[in-house]
Amino acid sequence: AKRVVIKVGTSTLVYPDGSINLRAIDQLAFVISAMRHRGREVVLVSSGAIGVGLNYMGLKQRPKAIPEQQAIAAIGQTELISIYKERFAIYEQKIGQLLLTRDIFVYPKSHHNVLNTFEALLKQNVVPIVNENDTVAVDELDHETKFGDNDQLSAIVATNIGADLLIMLSDIDGFYDGNPNADAQAQLLAHVGKVDQRTYELAGGSGSRFGTGGMVTKLKAAERMIDAHGQMILANGADPTIIFQILAGEPVGTLFG
Ligand code: ADP
Repeated sequence: AKRVVIKVGTSTLVYPDGSINLRAIDQLAFVISAMRHRGREVVLVSSGAIGVGLNYMGLKQRPKAIPEQQAIAAIGQTELISIYKERFAIYEQKIGQLLLTRDIFVYPKSHHNVLNTFEALLKQNVVPIVNENDTVAVDELDHETKFGDNDQLSAIVATNIGADLLIMLSDIDGFYDGNPNADAQAQLLAHVGKVDQRTYELAGGSGSRFGTGGMVTKLKAAERMIDAHGQMILANGADPTIIFQILAGEPVGTLFG
């Protein structure tokens, strides 16, 4: 896998008490810069805008109204990207921000433009940092997929830019044969070859306060990767240097595909 997409969830970036996990962000910057030096092309899909925005504004809870949430996302995205910029700069790694909606890839013209932007950034050794454009993606708010479903966006980006590996970091060691929050007996599955109805039945919702997707959107992402003959690895992002183990082929997390 020369080209790799890494997706980090809110739970990796924001502590349960709402403060920002700067150590995790720093380690991500370190790992991704190291990967670049080893000749890999990396795209980072990062959630966390709302979590960071709430922290920035001194709020404990997500506002109920959608425009207020979008405002928090706009504020938080600015703060989040400036933290990334600062941390990546330590490793002399440049970044570029892309705010996308999933339907971009549906329209030939925008699809073409977005792909060209990715190519131009990667060619110049810049790490693209992607988030769903929460200001525009109003549709998402009304549907079950919710706001900021970067799980599916990360797989859409990966398959479109020809990345055959999606590394999905969350607050859990991998995919279990039951929701570990509800079932203490649930076992980690090291390998899931295909995602079907049975797999979805094992998935529950989000366990974290700020997370949105839960396991269902991660399975949809895995399904999309497998359909495109790629793979997805779901692993615990508590220590993002786990990415080195993943790339070394060590058996961590759950391999899909
Ligand atoms: P993130 O913020 O990283 O995207 P989410 O909170 O949205 O994470 O989703 C991860 C959560 O999904 C886990 O912490 C767990 O509580 C929940 N979950 C539900 N079903 C499963 C399952 N079968 N295996 C693992 N986690 C599951």
